[in-house]
Amino acid sequence: MTIRAVVWNENVHETHNEVVAKLYPHGIHGAIAEALTAGGEITATTATLQEPEHGLTAKRLAETDVLLWWGHAAHGDVDDAIVERVAEVVWGGMGLILLHSAHFSKIFKRLMGTPCNLTWREAGERERLWVTSRNHPITAGVGDFFELENEEMYGEPFGVPEPLETVFVSWFQGGEVFRSGLTYKRGAGNVFYFRPGHETYPTYFDPNVQRVLRNAVKWAHNPAVRVQSVNDAPNVPVEEALEPIEARGLKLHADGEEGFR
Ligand code: ZN
Repeated sequence: MTIRAVVWNENVHETHNEVVAKLYPHGIHGAIAEALTAGGEITATTATLQEPEHGLTAKRLAETDVLLWWGHAAHGDVDDAIVERVAEVVWGGMGLILLHSAHFSKIFKRLMGTPCNLTWREAGERERLWVTSRNHPITAGVGDFFELENEEMYGEPFGVPEPLETVFVSWFQGGEVFRSGLTYKRGAGNVFYFRPGHETYPTYFDPNVQRVLRNAVKWAHNPAVRVQSVNDAPNVPVEEALEPIEARGLKLHADGEEGFR
């Protein structure tokens, strides 16, 4: 069975800017989905901000192994309830890949708990992505580094928590560096942030970028049965303790009480 990926895009630049529309006639989401599916191991479909529930119904998410997220101009238009729904599904085990300006998306900030800010410049600089974790499944087949002739610069400091692994570090012509491939675990879910992908450059047609995205989907896929009720916090009664115990001392909570939230 193939891995079921959904490529989510706010789909705003493609419909409002001629340069982007020309570059990505099927949208950034369309280009990424085609690249993912081309490998034969992934079946990728798309969803956009404009669809009911942003195309991310509970049913759709339950049938999604890995969600990819591209957003930029419309982070604020994403419904908070949908963000919370996606977060809970990630905690349950769905993979999530955040692309480029998704560093400021509500879902990334929700899962990181930090500002996720960075420095930036739109000057078509060369980006050289160095592999910093040899033999990592996400960098398979990439070599020691690869280059993108034109990219937007993102620079440190990047306001994210320390990752599990840094798999790419980028150098830019202007001299800045940036941790451009970061892995996280959130609940049972694997999370990957991948920096390249500015909308006015053909980044998602680059063979190395496409390879990394396919690798990342496979890495992020957690085949285990999804954890349900990720917010449960049960009060286990004394008589259900695994070893026999007697309740001692003074108590605040009544037996079986739900507890505070
Ligand atoms: Zn950008």
